[in-house]
Parts: sequence; structure tokens; C-alpha cells
Amino acid sequence: MPGPGVLRADTNRSGSRQLHRGIIVRSVDALAVSQEPTEPAPSSIDGSSTTTRRRTLATLAATSGIALPAETTVAATDDARDAATEPDASTRDDAVADLPLFDAHTHVVPAETLGRDPLSADELVEWLDAVGIDRAVVHALDSPEAYPVQAPSWWVLEELEGHDRLVPFCTVDPRVDVYGADTVLERLESLVERGARGIGELKAGVAIDDERLERLYELCAEYDLPALVHVDDKAMLDAVGLPRFEDVLASYPGVDFLAHAHGWWAHVSADVSESDLGRYPERPVEPGGRVPELLAGYDNCYGDLAGMSGWNALTRDPEFGQAFLEDHHEHLVFGTDYLYPGHEIPHLELFDRFDLEREAWSAIRYRNLESLLG
Ligand SMILES: [Zn+2]
Repeated sequence: MPGPGVLRADTNRSGSRQLHRGIIVRSVDALAVSQEPTEPAPSSIDGSSTTTRRRTLATLAATSGIALPAETTVAATDDARDAATEPDASTRDDAVADLPLFDAHTHVVPAETLGRDPLSADELVEWLDAVGIDRAVVHALDSPEAYPVQAPSWWVLEELEGHDRLVPFCTVDPRVDVYGADTVLERLESLVERGARGIGELKAGVAIDDERLERLYELCAEYDLPALVHVDDKAMLDAVGLPRFEDVLASYPGVDFLAHAHGWWAHVSADVSESDLGRYPERPVEPGGRVPELLAGYDNCYGDLAGMSGWNALTRDPEFGQAFLEDHHEHLVFGTDYLYPGHEIPHLELFDRFDLEREAWSAIRYRNLESLLG
């Protein structure tokens, strides 16, 4: 179902959305969510101590900002990059390769999985050096739907200690609220206190607008945490056309969402079927897809190019890929989804495959992600 012709949506306090074209789209009242970051209910937590704690956490998050390493990191790995690409690199390519590169989507994994070796933080950094990536966001995988790959948030934080180039994102499965309304709050606060800079990746087997996620989205707004959502046919579920995700984007304008995986990226094309939500469509892209529409329509919507789903979205129809990168570079972030030692990652070829201005590449390579991290 293609959505309404969104150019830019503003959210008003009554919960309905007015588009710049003047079209009123369906109300999000049904979600029963607030538009602004809210205080915890007085019955659930003491307000004054929460405020103090929140300020401390905000300070912690601000002071744990990580400076980009010197460009010598890139220079040191140029040999490895050059060996893998054509020797006739143009001036433009050189200029692009010198830009910092920040990976929005990597992992560390504590145990052998499907016959693949575990991946430690040291090994991840070795790989970053080998391919010329300066910094990386590292995501936890903490829901049954991520099985068999599991990387609990507490372990990711522990594993990343002392690694300044790795930025931890942690996840909270919204179903922990079965233990009480404050469980999500307590869990998220302890993760932020210990260094989590965002929520990711969210891969729980619930609808992306499930009411149990509302508290988590509200807290993301309060703590200014971006959230990476893995949308497919098993997790963060939505219908063809992504109507639920659009409601979430409109309902939480203060939360930056990084959208990832099959269910999201299939929607670069207008002709999405139910089965596309869990696979990599190969046919050419039909114009008018929901991904370009949502990226253009919502300031808080970003596309994470990681994984085969992101790669496929750009390369299944190269002419579309070129135009898409040109049009939406301010809302796209480079990512790989590196998952195990020796994992072959095609994404580093993007900079040779497509032809963008240096400024557009800088947005995709690091600038957008840095701005999301505040
Ligand atoms: Zn991932």
C-alpha cells in the first residue's frame, strides 16, 4: 500500500499530522502516545531524584564523546584499499578516500555461531584498520529473534572498554516490561550510565509500533538516544507500505531512527510484496517507493546502508542507486554489519561504484552519524 504523498510532515500536539501540501493524514491518537518527551509517571518513580540522575546521565553522555582519530589512520590503510581497487584512482577518488569513515553498524559476538568464530573488540579493530574505517558503532543483539547470534548489552559494554574508536549501542527488549512498568526505564538508565550512546539494534519480534515499545521510544527522546531498528518479517514488524513505522516517525519527532534490514530496504521500490519483507529483491526499482518518501518526509528518518539489504537496495538497479544517493545523502549512513572474522563486506566498493560530490560522500561517510550522536 503506497502511503500518502508526503513531502514533509509536521506533528502537532493534538496528535494529527499536517503535511506541507496541506493534506491531513490519519491521526496517531490510536497510539495513545505523547508528542513530547515526558516525565515518568509520579506513581512509578520519584520525580526529583530522576531529574538529578537524568542530568548526570546527560553529562556522562556528553563527556564520553569520542574524537575522530587523526587522518593518519586512513593513510595507514591506503595500501590495503589501493590493492583492492583499480590503480587509476582519480583525484576525486583520492579526495573521497581521505575523508573519515564511520561505520554505523558492526558487532562483537561472544561465542561461536553457526560454525563462525566469535568476534572480539580487538579483532573488530584489526579489521577496521585493514579496510580503512576510523570508528564504528557496535550493536548489541539481545532478543530471541536475533538467534542464533546473541551479543548481550552488558557484554558489549564490557568488551568495548578501553576501545575509544568503538561506540556502544545497547538494546532493551520491550517485552521485559512483563516484570513491571519501570523495567524498561531501569534497564535503559543502567546501560546509559555505563556508556551506551544509542539503542540498537532493536530486533524484537513485535510490531514496530507495539505499545510496549512506546516507553522505550519516549526514553530515547528524553536521553537523546538514536535508535536503530531491524525491520523484517520476524522483528519490528510492519505491513507492506510501512504505515506503522511512519506513525512511529511522526509520533516521536525527537528520536532519530536508523532504519535497517529487508523490510525497510525492499521499500526503495514501489512494488513491494509481502514476501519481499524477508528477502533481497533483484528486479529493477519501480519509482515511488516508500523509503525515498519517508527519508524526504521526516527529519528523524535515516537509512542504514549496512548488510546485504542495504547493499542490494543500492545495487539492484544501479541507475536508481546513483540518483537515490544524490537525492538522500543527508539521510543515509555508511554501515557494514560486520559480524564474524573474515566476513566479506562489499560496502567499501560503494565509493568507487557511485559518483558523488565530496560533500555528499562526507555526509554518508561520517557527518550524518556524528550529528546523530550529538
Ligand atoms: Zn546487525
